This record gives sequence, C-alpha cells and structure tokens, in this order.
Amino acid sequence: MFESLSDRLTSALKDLRGKGRLTDADIDATAREIRLALLEADVALPVVREFISRIKERAKGAEVSGALNPAQQVVKIVNEELTGILGGESRPLNYAKQPPTVIMLAGLQGAGKTTLAGKLANWFKSQKHTPMLVACDLQRPGAVDQLKIVGDRANVPVFAPHPGTSVGGDGEPIGVAEPVDVANRAIAHARAKMHDVVIVDTAGRLGIDEELMAQARGIRDAVEPDETFFVLDAMVGQDAVTTAEAFRDGVGFTGVVLTKLDGDARGGAALSVRELTGTPIMFASNGEKLEDFDVFHPDRMASRILGMGDVLSLIEQAETVFDQKQAEEAASKIGSGELTLEDFLDQMLMIRRMGPLGNIIGMLPGGKEMKDAVGDIDEKYLDRIQAIIRGMTPEERANPKIINGSRRLRIANGSGVKVSDVNQLVDRFFEAKKMMGRMAGQMGM
Ligand code: GDP
Repeated sequence: MFESLSDRLTSALKDLRGKGRLTDADIDATAREIRLALLEADVALPVVREFISRIKERAKGAEVSGALNPAQQVVKIVNEELTGILGGESRPLNYAKQPPTVIMLAGLQGAGKTTLAGKLANWFKSQKHTPMLVACDLQRPGAVDQLKIVGDRANVPVFAPHPGTSVGGDGEPIGVAEPVDVANRAIAHARAKMHDVVIVDTAGRLGIDEELMAQARGIRDAVEPDETFFVLDAMVGQDAVTTAEAFRDGVGFTGVVLTKLDGDARGGAALSVRELTGTPIMFASNGEKLEDFDVFHPDRMASRILGMGDVLSLIEQAETVFDQKQAEEAASKIGSGELTLEDFLDQMLMIRRMGPLGNIIGMLPGGKEMKDAVGDIDEKYLDRIQAIIRGMTPEERANPKIINGSRRLRIANGSGVKVSDVNQLVDRFFEAKKMMGRMAGQMGM
C-alpha cells in the first residue's frame, strides 16, 4: 500500500535537498511533482487541488528557520498537510453513557465488514470490554455462519438467528429472522448478559441498492448506534468516493474503517475519504488475521507515506510480543559477549511474532531502502536458520565453538539444509557477536 506514492513523493522532495534557498520556481516544480504523484495514486481531484494550494502557500511563506534547512522545511509542511487530509488528531471512540455501546457496520459486500466485526471484538476485549457480535446480515447465504466463525476465533459470543428455527445464539427464542427484530432482541440480550459493547454486522450490497439502504436505516433506528462505521475497501479506486457519499446520505456514519491496507492499492481512497466525507478514519485493517488491525493514526500514516517510518507503531507492536526481562537479559549478554545461539533463536522467534518481516521493515525510516538491502532475507531464510539452530544440541547452541566439521554435517542432515548453510550461519553468528561486543564497548555498556 502507498508504495509507489511513497516512492514518488520521496523522490520529489529529494530534489530539494542541498539547496540553500528555495525560489518560487523550485517550490512550483516540487508542487507539480507532488500533484502528479497524488493524481496517479487516484486521490480525488478536489482533495489534490486543495492540498497543493496549501503546500505552495505555506512553502512560499515559510520563515527561514534556524533548525531546518529549506528542504526539511518543505518535508515538514508536506507531512503536516498529509496528516491533515488523513484527519489530523485521532478521535476517541464515542462510548454510550448507559452501556451497551452499540457499533453498527455498514458498507459494500466484500468490503470486509464481517472480518472487521471479529477484529473489533478482539480489540475491545484487549481494552477490557465484554463485546458481543450480532448477525444482521440475513441476506447473503453463509453470512451468519461466517460471523459465528469469526466470533469463535475472537472468543466472543455471537447473537444470531438459527436458520430454520426461531431460536437465537444462546438458545433464546428470537422469533422471525428479520434484521430489525434480531437487532432489537440482541440489544436486550446484551443488556441482560452485561455485554458492554455490541457490534452489529449488517447486510452489504454489491452496488448502491435502495432497498438494502432502507434496511440499514431500519436497523440504525432500532439500535440507535453510538458509532456507525462505514467500512471501505482501500483497494477500490475512485469509486470509493461515490460509495462513501451514497452511504453518508443513505444511512449516515460517524467514522470510516479502511480495510485491505496490506494490498497493493495506490492509496487514493484512503487519502480522499476523510476530506470528502468530513468523517474521521477510526481504524485500519491490514490483513486477514484478527491481529491485523489497529487504531488509525493520521500522523503515523503520513510519516510512513513519506518514508519517514512509523517507529511508534513498531514500538507498540514490539511491546506486545517482547518480554522485558528477557530482552534485558539478552542485552546484558550482548554487552558481555555471552550471547549464545539459544538466545539468538529466542530473539528471532520474538521478532517473528511481530508479523511478516516485510511489514516490520516497512515501519522503519527509509523502509524502502532497507527492504531493498535485506531483500534476500525472506521468511524462508528465517525458517532455515530456525531449523538449523533447532538441529543443534543444547551444548552446541551454548558453545558454538565446538561445532566442528562432523557436527556441521550432522546438523545439516538433521535439519535438511546444506553444510554450507550451517557454515554460513555459524560464521555470521561469530561475526555478529564480535560486532555487537565492539558496539557495546563503544557505548560503555
Ligand atoms: P463483508 O462482505 O463486508 O462482510 O466482507 P468479508 O468480511 O467477508 O471480507 C471479504 C474478503 O476480504 C474476505 O475474503 C476477507 O478475508 C478479506 N479481507 C477482509 N479484510 C481484509 C484485510 O484487511 N486484508 C486482506 N488482505 N483481506 C481482507
């Protein structure tokens, strides 16, 4: 996502580097490049116009600052304006004064509503809430079952009509399976069972369909949601704008959730939706797993687009998988040169729990250059290293010096790799250890 936009913006801004003073012509040329980059990324024209005119105005009027050179000043302005079109500050969720807080999901079929319902439930659980899911998509065959699977995965109850019977999720009678009816009963059920958040999945539509829009209004009026999220597939291009406007006028929504940010879309929908609908982007999904989901932070997204990395998100993600004590132990071992292959394996497993390597590297500043540099380190390579270390005896892991020729052959055969792979790993380990020892020495650790 955003990759080609990111490349183009970065290179447009790179041209300014090294200039001691920026003329109006320099700024106009850069603005033209940025404009092209945005249009190519499918950002809506009115958004592009407004964006470019603000950049020009601010860049030309910028005071010379002691701290930043002119190029850095322009990058700062672009970053701030990009954050602005993505929504500025992230807004906190509206919780009901009297629980349950009701969240309704609306959007086209295939946008990712049902998947999102599970992710949201999982997220609310992590925030110490007791969410419940409600299946109001009685249109699409299999939608109810899909929500149940998602609910199971997140370990959250699902209130749903049973096909062919008139009994709800917990054996409670719910009468005829009409979406509005299901919604009403679900809220009463949540209140009785002390669920403080209710997430209502509604029927999607393939295109704008007045009948289904009326149904969504019916559900909305019945459950009086505290938040209605319009779920937008970031892979759809310019059409996103028309769809968003139709939902805004037909049902109304208080927030947007972007899905499929892991895809290779150009990013235009994501960059236009907030400005055109005036509604904040609340969350973003970037994968099919429950955890591929986070609160949307406009500033972090902007700096990622500009290749400045998203170190804050990286740290947050690291905090969820790293054990502080273990990390401190590893750090002190590195300092004293006692690091073993066992520690190395532990560290590697922790890093891998943070997600695919490509995603992690994408969050680092200069992510693209890094990605190119470590392009050969793919997941398969990590699998191989893991297999080799697992094929060693505890003694060998603790003291790699003893790994002689015959041991190398045994390890290679046992882990299904070539002897040269084992050699390479052992050599690299010693090299890395030497380097880390030197670094630790320099830092006075
Ligand atoms: P719904 O019709 O709006 O309920 O959409 P679904 O939740 O059924 O999602 C449609 C498809 O998109 C499914 O195959 C999901 O696995 C997939 N999907 C949903 N969210 C994401 C995402 O963030 N990234 C990717 N890659 N796929 C997603």
